Amino acid sequence: LSDRLQGIFSGLRSKGRLTEDDINAAMREIRMALLEADVNFKVVKEFVASTKARCLEAEILDSLTPAQNVVKVVLDELTALLGQSDSKLVLTSRIPNVIMLVGLQGSGKTTASAKLAYLLKSKGHSPLLVACDVYRPAAADQLQTLGDEMGVKVYRGDGQDPVRIAEEGVRFAIDNLRDVVIVDTAGRLHVDDAMMDEAAAIKAAVKPDQILMVVDAMTGQDVVNVAQAFAEKVEFDGVIMSKMDGDARGGGALSLKQVTGKPIKFISAGEKPDSLEEFHPDRMAKRILGMGDVVSLIEHASKVQAEEIEAETTARMAKAQINLNDFLEIKKQVKKMGGISKLVSALPGGDKAMASGQVDEGALDRMETVIFSMTKYEREHPEVLNGSRRARIAAGSGTTVQEVNQVMKQFHETRKMLKKAMPAAEAMQNGRGKK
Ligand code: GDP
Ligand code: MG
Repeated sequence: LSDRLQGIFSGLRSKGRLTEDDINAAMREIRMALLEADVNFKVVKEFVASTKARCLEAEILDSLTPAQNVVKVVLDELTALLGQSDSKLVLTSRIPNVIMLVGLQGSGKTTASAKLAYLLKSKGHSPLLVACDVYRPAAADQLQTLGDEMGVKVYRGDGQDPVRIAEEGVRFAIDNLRDVVIVDTAGRLHVDDAMMDEAAAIKAAVKPDQILMVVDAMTGQDVVNVAQAFAEKVEFDGVIMSKMDGDARGGGALSLKQVTGKPIKFISAGEKPDSLEEFHPDRMAKRILGMGDVVSLIEHASKVQAEEIEAETTARMAKAQINLNDFLEIKKQVKKMGGISKLVSALPGGDKAMASGQVDEGALDRMETVIFSMTKYEREHPEVLNGSRRARIAAGSGTTVQEVNQVMKQFHETRKMLKKAMPAAEAMQNGRGKK
């Protein structure tokens, strides 16, 4: 995937302003890239169409950094597709609340049941796990072991009739003051009637407040058929995507969301009970696109006008009137020069800063993530960044408001520092002029 994107954006990079043909070529490549990431072809088609329309808006084409903006549009569209509806776990007022997990065999239901119990317990609930997989001999033992590890009671009943076990489990929860019942069910290797009938019978018996479908992140194109079958027969409410600690890009998440309309609620990523994470569409979008690569691509792409921008930035630096775009530009230069430590120690008083440990290399990357989530206007007019804008930026960049504040503080400090170092900036400009 990343190789392809590399190709797309280095193609874009050699142009100044983008044309419709450039966008068409880029979209063709993105289409191929998403297909390779196992996103369903229909989903890809719709995605590419809507994204292309946005990329063709004059605002993007005529912007100073069109290739960079194309990447942003692709990411924004992908994020919107992944998370239009609520991805939080919401319990109803019914006690005990019943959550039922369904999915194919090996998808990660039992593991996710335990993780869900752990999460609920850590939020002050007293969950009960109910073992309704009576077919695999070790299934109930597996749940029992996980339950024992975290001190959550597991109801196993007679290990014969899954519907009865589910009903008894709910009764057991009432008698033992458990407020959430998590029903772990059996799955099969493929969608079949027996599995669907059983899930439907359990559903009818205990009337779950919500049904979550567990999907292995590695499931390819077939995820759409599986999800559709479950959606028709048992009508699930949301999705847990498991095995996200592996190297699957998670393209299936996009198909799932698009085809079923059901929100992805959790990401299950690992063997530990605390590895159930809330779903963040922006992070997922970055993962599907291979954001690490995309960031470097943006850097490549924006080299188009790099010289132009560099000159402008240097001019504004000299006047100590930099905006956040310049700040990003400076960051890039800093990286080229061998990192922030090197630069700071070269500045007047820099040795002191180094010695007092004020230099944080990772801050550069965080800063970049935060600034990428700002609009063009905000970057050029940092003074408009009030509390609500900062909250939006934090959400968009997967950071916190504190981190956004931190970036803004650093920005203002840099500006102050530049004011002091004006003569040096002028020298820098003159130095460049001589080359
Ligand atoms: P079930 O058949 O749907 O109940 O699936 P299980 O919960 O038994 O999981 C099947 C296998 O996948 C087990 O070996 C689990 O340890 C493993 N597994 C489940 N979830 C995850 C996950 O998030 N990450 C990793 N690495 N392995 C997982
Ligand atoms: Mg199981």
